[in-house]
Amino acid sequence: MAVEMHAGLASEGGSKLKMLLTFVDTLPNGSEKGIYYALDLGGTNFRVLRVQLGGQRSILETDVERQPIPQHLMTSTSEDLFDFIASSLKEFVEKEGDVSDTTLMRRRELGFTFSFPVKQTSVSTGILIKWTKGFGIEDTVGREVSECLEQAMARKGLNMRVAALVNDTVGTLALGHYHDPDTIAAVIIGTGTNACYLERTDAIIKCQGLLTTSGGMVVNMEWGNFWSSHLPRTSYDIELDADSPNPNDQGFEKMISGMYLGDIVRRVILRMSHEADIFGDALPKLSMPFILRTPLMAEMHEDDSPELTEVARILKDTLEIPDVPSKVRKLVVKVCDVVTRRAARLAAAGIVGILKKIGRDGSGGITGGRSRSDIKMKRTVVAIEGGLYTSYTMFREYLHEAMKEILGEEAAQHVTLMVTEDGSGVGAALLAATHSSDPVDNVQ
Ligand code: BGC
Ligand code: MG
Repeated sequence: MAVEMHAGLASEGGSKLKMLLTFVDTLPNGSEKGIYYALDLGGTNFRVLRVQLGGQRSILETDVERQPIPQHLMTSTSEDLFDFIASSLKEFVEKEGDVSDTTLMRRRELGFTFSFPVKQTSVSTGILIKWTKGFGIEDTVGREVSECLEQAMARKGLNMRVAALVNDTVGTLALGHYHDPDTIAAVIIGTGTNACYLERTDAIIKCQGLLTTSGGMVVNMEWGNFWSSHLPRTSYDIELDADSPNPNDQGFEKMISGMYLGDIVRRVILRMSHEADIFGDALPKLSMPFILRTPLMAEMHEDDSPELTEVARILKDTLEIPDVPSKVRKLVVKVCDVVTRRAARLAAAGIVGILKKIGRDGSGGITGGRSRSDIKMKRTVVAIEGGLYTSYTMFREYLHEAMKEILGEEAAQHVTLMVTEDGSGVGAALLAATHSSDPVDNVQ
C-alpha cells in the first residue's frame, strides 16, 4: 500500500491508487460558526442536513432527513438523479421554514458529500471519474458534479451555492479533526471502502509547485481500487468481479466492503453445495448474485444461540434452504468468519500502509537507524466510519487484532481509531463553513 501511494503521488496514472487532490488544505478547528447545509450521496441512503455551528467546538443543532435512494435512479440519467436530490433538498429547506430569501440575506451554503472518485478542480468543483457501489449513470461520468447539482437546484428554484464538494472520507477527516486535532487520516468501511489522509504538499510530486498556506493537503486515496500482485485472489473474487456492474475495477473494495462480503459467502457455500452436496436438492436462490446481503451474513456470523437458530432462519427465509443440519450451520458460520477476517485484515493492512507512508507506524521511516524504542511516537488518530466497522463486531475485532499484530503492541498504543458520528454529513457542513464565501457571519 505504501509503495502504491508513492507511485500514485509521483505521476498521474502512476498507480491504480488515484491519490486525488482535494484542495482541502485547512481542516476545521472548532471556531466555525453559522448555519450550513449538507447533502450526503454515496451509500445506501441519501441524506439532507442542516447544521448549526456555534463556534468553540460546538455543534448546536443538526436536523437530518434520510431516505433510501430509489433503485431505478442509480442507473437512470444524470438529470433524474440530480432532480431527485434538488427536490429533496428543497422540501427539506421549506420544512425548516427558512426558505424565504428575505429572512436570509445571502445565499445558503452547502457542503456536498459525493462519495465517488472525483477529479477535483477546486474545493467546490470536480469531475466524476467513474461510478462505484452499483451506481451506473453514464452521462454523469466526465461531468462537473457541482454544476449538475446547481443546475438541478436552479430548475427547482432553489438558491444555494456548493461551497465544498467532498468525498465522505474527507468529511470524516474534517469532523475527526474538529474533535481531535491529532486526527490525520480517515477511513470508511461501509457499502464501499476508501481512505484519505493529510499529506505534505512537497510529497505530492505530480503537482509540482503546489502551494498551500498549511504546507499540506488532504489526499483522497480511492483505496478501493488498490491492486497489487501481492494480493492473493481466489476464484470467488474473480467470479464476483466478473458478475459485478464494474468488472476489473475496485478490486480491494470487492474483498472488503459491505456491498460484496455477503456475496463472497454465498459463492463459497454455493460451491460447497455443488461439490459436497451440503444442502441436498437444487437451490435456485443460492445461485442469485447479491441475494445474501452483508447485514444478514453478520447476523449469521454473530448468532450465539447453541443451535444456531438465526443461521437456520436466514438460510430458510433468504435462500429458501430449509432444515439445515446443525453441522452445516456451523460450517456456514465458519465461512462468514473466514470472509470477514480476511476483509478486516486487509483493511488493517491498508491503514498501517498509510501510517507507514507518513512515518507514523513506529518503524522510524526514512529517519531510520534508530531502534523502535528510541523514537517517541506521536499520538495518531484515524477517524473511522461505516456500518461494517461500527455494526459488525467481529469485523471490528479482527481489524483491531490485525493492527496490533502488524504494528506491534507498543506502536499500536499510539494509534487510536476514533469513530466519528456522521462525518459525511456534519463534516461536509464544517468544510462548507471553512470554505464559505463569508466565513465570519453566516448566521441568520
Ligand atoms: C468510492 C469512494 C468512497 C467509498 C466509501 C467507494 O466506492 O469510490 O469515493 O469514499 O466508496 O463510501
Ligand atoms: Mg456514507
